Amino acid sequence: MENSVRETVILGTGCAGLTAAIYAARANLKPLVVEGHEPGGQLSLTTMVENFPGFPEGIQGPELIENMRKQAVRFGAEFMSGHLDSADLEHRPFKLHMGKQTIETRSLIIASGASARLLGLPNEKALMGRGVSPCATCDGFFFKGLPITVIGGGDSAMEEANFLTRFGEEVALVHRRDVFRSSKIMLERARNNPKIKFIMDAMVEDIYDADQHMVTGVKLRNVKTGETWERDVDGFFVAIGHIPNTTPFEGQIELDPDGYIISKGGARTSVVGVFHAGDVQDRTYRQAITAAGAGCAAAIDAERYLSARNE
Ligand code: NAP
Repeated sequence: MENSVRETVILGTGCAGLTAAIYAARANLKPLVVEGHEPGGQLSLTTMVENFPGFPEGIQGPELIENMRKQAVRFGAEFMSGHLDSADLEHRPFKLHMGKQTIETRSLIIASGASARLLGLPNEKALMGRGVSPCATCDGFFFKGLPITVIGGGDSAMEEANFLTRFGEEVALVHRRDVFRSSKIMLERARNNPKIKFIMDAMVEDIYDADQHMVTGVKLRNVKTGETWERDVDGFFVAIGHIPNTTPFEGQIELDPDGYIISKGGARTSVVGVFHAGDVQDRTYRQAITAAGAGCAAAIDAERYLSARNE
């Protein structure tokens, strides 16, 4: 890998980063794509993707990601594994510090995504994509006529629970307190939905059954009484928020109070020459196809920025 100043570096290998890589490579920018601790992003955590246009029979999330990656490599994108410790975006070229290595680049596309906040239970990761999911839109369809549990008390949980009643015979919404963080209107909508059953003051203690490689039930505990009990469950949706992966940019790029990048129009950030793509900025849509579109936009903006500077 050459050590000279790169035209563009793309952080992240989810749908947004890989689409940016395809477009940047085809624009002859020879992008360097940095693969972090969640290679492939959220798609690599799902199973069948049925709503990505162009695949009438659906496609496995990891396969879709692998295809995008191959497409980017075919046009000349280079990949490296690395963890961004810090970045200097004040001086040009930008400097990206990763362990002992420092990479210099004229432009930067941040597509580092937002990680779904998880409960941290031992079986949660083992059963991810096998009944545990952070995304109702992606995976709700697989639980037609089956019992579903949603965890959380914010707008995401209300939205996901409502959405999942299209599929599940009953959706249990489990929340750790007896007051909600969600907006009144979304809470009312959920309360008025006869298929949603509220379980308050409850925490999930365990998810079964890692030995069977599928979710079969959960163990719950009432936080006030200490009582524990079990429920049969097929779909387990964790809707307790997302954490955008922007820590290395704190104090350098404008972020909102939750850490999402604030867009300055198109794919622009508050730093000229630095662009955003996907869930690191988008807290609304969070779909594979919207992330891919954002990656395309970021690469086009980066290419135009570089061309304008070279004139
Ligand atoms: P949120 O508002 O931060 O709510 C997270 C919920 O998860 C809270 O109820 C929290 O419980 C619970 N939680 C957090 N960690 C937990 C844990 N370890 N165990 C159990 N429960 C846990 O996140 P969000 O619902 O994703 O919403 C994020 C933002 O997006 C909000 O501003 C929201 O309004 C917005 N949003 C809007 C829409 C919409 O308008 N259509 C849809 C989705 C999201 P506590 O309440 O006890 O802390």
